[in-house]
Amino acid sequence: MTFKDLGLIEPILKALDEQGYTQPTPIQEQSIPILLKGDDLLGCAQTGTGKTAAFSIPIIQQLVNAGVDTKGKRRVKALVVTPTRELAIQISDNFKAYAKHTDIKRTVIYGGVKQGSQVNALRGGVDVLIATPGRLLDLMQQGFITLQHIEYFILDEADQMLDMGFIHDIKKIIAKLPVKRQSLFFSATMAKEIVELAGKILSSSPQRVTIQPKQATAEKVEQAIYFVQKVDKPKLLVHLLQENPSSSCLVFSRTKHGADKIVRILAKAKIQAAAIHGNKSQNQRQKALNDFKDGKLKVLIATDIAARGIDVEDLALVINYDLPNVPETYVHRIGRTGRASASGIALSFCNGEEKPYLKDIQKLINQSIPVVDNHPFPDDGTEVFVKAPQQQRRPKTERGHSGGNRKGNGGNTGGNNKKRFGAKRN
Ligand code: AMP
Repeated sequence: MTFKDLGLIEPILKALDEQGYTQPTPIQEQSIPILLKGDDLLGCAQTGTGKTAAFSIPIIQQLVNAGVDTKGKRRVKALVVTPTRELAIQISDNFKAYAKHTDIKRTVIYGGVKQGSQVNALRGGVDVLIATPGRLLDLMQQGFITLQHIEYFILDEADQMLDMGFIHDIKKIIAKLPVKRQSLFFSATMAKEIVELAGKILSSSPQRVTIQPKQATAEKVEQAIYFVQKVDKPKLLVHLLQENPSSSCLVFSRTKHGADKIVRILAKAKIQAAAIHGNKSQNQRQKALNDFKDGKLKVLIATDIAARGIDVEDLALVINYDLPNVPETYVHRIGRTGRASASGIALSFCNGEEKPYLKDIQKLINQSIPVVDNHPFPDDGTEVFVKAPQQQRRPKTERGHSGGNRKGNGGNTGGNNKKRFGAKRN
């Protein structure tokens, strides 16, 4: 299947060619024909699957086919609402790239910055608006934006929207949309409240596309586990980063506080790093992300929510400083490396308390993750737990003890125990 087979118009084909895309990803192959027909879409997919192109390309094509008003005042006909500034900018960049050889104009608005330049761009007239919910409502209330001409509405990353408490904003936005429109709804997960929200936005019989990146992602990424005591995790991280000075590395921390602490630990070891999480300002987050994308900053520490918007080409290494207690989160995290066609490495630290999480992860991905046992800070089984973390499901027999077997991996070993990750790579 090629993009041409999907019936795309020449200016878009040319832009995709310039992007170096040779063939559609599964979500593009399935969604583009549905969207070109004008049907509503419920997409269960996350970033990294090619989702943005899957929705932006057919919208550009429909706008071009309907005729762009290059002389009169343009009205916003397509609205994409996404939870974070990082995602909004990324989507806007994608629209720009795919619409490069058309007359479509787009702009992006988000909070945390002055509104002046955003208002100016809106005054100039745009066809496509990409927005975060708060700033959108703000500018609507001030009369700079009307949604009455919207023909295409896309709600992106719905689960993250709900996580971030945007549900009321979303409801206010959808109340202002024209009834006659094409609606697209994307979420990485489909919990009950997400499905309910989708019901309020989509027509009664939307087409559904589900893209499970689980197996593909897990297979593409080279993974390894390091059993290590909690107290030794900082030293192990410093060791691995010193061994890989030239790789871009994304380090995951379960908490915001933990992410800041890792930055301080690395600073002491003269490793420059920055953290992105919900407590950082938009400007701090964007600067850290830009520096990381440009290669000026080699190490970025992120929490799961903040990392959703990260799309970095050639991200070689992901380190799970903490194992997530939700196994799907592991798959999302390691999906930050090995995106599209590249392959990557994901290393995970696991202390005694995290072994049940490892077990759940291996069950989900249906793989035993190889264990690295020849690192300088192996867990010798003497770790003392003060307090069990929430949602702990560790059986009593493992309490306070990792079993003294450094090669055990939570009950499902296999793989290559001798394999050494983090050793010098090109
Ligand atoms: P997304 O899921 O939209 O965040 O896209 C993930 C990454 O895949 C982005 O860097 C896109 O530029 C890239 N991408 C999207 N579609 C394709 C394609 N058909 N071929 C190669 N790369 C793609």
